[in-house]
Amino acid sequence: MQSNLKPAKTIPTVSVQSLTGCAGELLVILENLQKMLPYVRLQSFPFAQSTNNNGPVDITFIEGSVSNPHDLEKLKGLRERSKRIVAVGNCAVWGCVQKGACSRMAVEEMRKKVYGELSSFAVMPASRLEDHVRVDVKLSGCPIDSTQLLAVTASLLKDHLPYVTQKPVCLECKLRENPCILIEQDLPCLGPVTAAGCGALCPSVGAPCYGCWGPSEEPQIDAMAHVLMEKGFTLTDILNRLQAFGAPPELFSRLNQLQDLAQQANTGK
Ligand code: SF4
Ligand code: SF4
Repeated sequence: MQSNLKPAKTIPTVSVQSLTGCAGELLVILENLQKMLPYVRLQSFPFAQSTNNNGPVDITFIEGSVSNPHDLEKLKGLRERSKRIVAVGNCAVWGCVQKGACSRMAVEEMRKKVYGELSSFAVMPASRLEDHVRVDVKLSGCPIDSTQLLAVTASLLKDHLPYVTQKPVCLECKLRENPCILIEQDLPCLGPVTAAGCGALCPSVGAPCYGCWGPSEEPQIDAMAHVLMEKGFTLTDILNRLQAFGAPPELFSRLNQLQDLAQQANTGK
């Protein structure tokens, strides 16, 4: 005889974890937890609760960069126990300011400068999650945007890999009908090479974008540098600004060409 009973619906399990970061993404997740809890079973969130289950889960949100051996070991363990991994925030997706700093100074030197000559704990050059393990979804931001977080979570609950836009901030800026502060006020706005998602937060209040969402899809770095040099910024200013949030070195592989452009700008050719 056939049973009329339907199989019990399983609620997806979720874990929220952090590596080296400022906890900004954890706060955004915490703020949105009430909206998520009817649809997920929270297994682990050490930042927010003292009793945690570290067994296998469907979705793990991970904040922070890999900046020491403990981070790396923890990340590999989380990968083994998670069906989906979502890298949340610029640190996890791009390496953020700690990776930017590592591009300018050796990590051992930085440790001594910050913690003193006698410090001896192990550090690694800051890196992205995807440099070490497979990452299923990358949700950038510093911190992440609540609407993007909930949209990504909703897709994953239906077992769909979500689309996260990599179009530039300029797109959102134009949709808000903002005047362009790069063109009209000569401010060093990185909107043309930064991924959208924030709703053009900074230009909407008259402040130039400084790239906290990380690079957009196929960012035209040379063209961006050229425009900024035409407006009187030095190549050093531009590179510091572009690299502040850990943009990967391959984006700067045409550094020699940029330097040529700088020379041309200086000689007025
Ligand atoms: S203000 Fe910045 S983000 Fe807005 S359109 Fe101009 S360059 Fe793009
Ligand atoms: S406008 Fe740029 S700096 Fe400001 S929040 Fe958006 S991505 Fe970050």
